Amino acid sequence: MSEGHWSVGAGATDAGPRPRNEDSFLSSGPVHLVADGMGGHAGGAAASAAAIDAFRPLAERSTLTPEDVTAAMTTAHADVLEVGRRVGAESGTTLTGAIAVEHEGEPWWMVVNVGDSRTYQLDGTEVRQITVDHSHVQQLVDAGRITADEAAHHPDRHIITRALGDGVDAFDAWLVPVVPASRLVIASDGLTGVVSASLIGSVAGLSDSPEDAAERLVEAALRHGTGDNVTVVVAQAPATVTPHHAVAEPWPLWPEDDDDTRGAVARTPSA
Ligand code: MG
Repeated sequence: MSEGHWSVGAGATDAGPRPRNEDSFLSSGPVHLVADGMGGHAGGAAASAAAIDAFRPLAERSTLTPEDVTAAMTTAHADVLEVGRRVGAESGTTLTGAIAVEHEGEPWWMVVNVGDSRTYQLDGTEVRQITVDHSHVQQLVDAGRITADEAAHHPDRHIITRALGDGVDAFDAWLVPVVPASRLVIASDGLTGVVSASLIGSVAGLSDSPEDAAERLVEAALRHGTGDNVTVVVAQAPATVTPHHAVAEPWPLWPEDDDDTRGAVARTPSA
């Protein structure tokens, strides 16, 4: 467990049945992130590590702004691209999580996302998924062609439509109001592919600490037969943080991006 200026958090990971663990995570100071790398040989692990490393300088700081997070995302994009050049293979990574920031004098979570790892916010044992997957099946759900339940079992559920390393320096972001003592769950698809959102909420909400919650969720994924690396970070706001009454809002960083010409990145199916 690490102490930030107001957030705390902890992470856990397991390779599952895979020979390598290509996920990376950081839960230190105000930074709580999970990255799920893809690419042959060492490319996936190097890509997820590079994305996380871009945020390590922020973990040492006591105060961060949304602009600091934006700058780190740009660094992460460039560093993951460089990994691809160095290993000479197509490699990339998802990246999602929450960074404790100050904006207009108030504490907020800045939630960021590229790819299909997920960040959830807990209200007791109820979960709300903040991030929207950048995935082929999410596009089918958005178009009304399949249901969310069908998406969970779809043969193409491993195809993601954005990743760090695809050459597009863009990401989704939200400013989420801090609720005293509430938790966030940040996880790779090794968890979310096999453990339901309601069970994630029960386990994370009823655990004694973020560390306990992260370890129990990794255990749950293994017990449910995950075929993938599984990584979970649980972040928590202190009970003493001053609540404010704003609602979550997208952080407007770029004009609406309608470019669907980006190539989809195929991921190794976990089956
Ligand atoms: Mg994965």
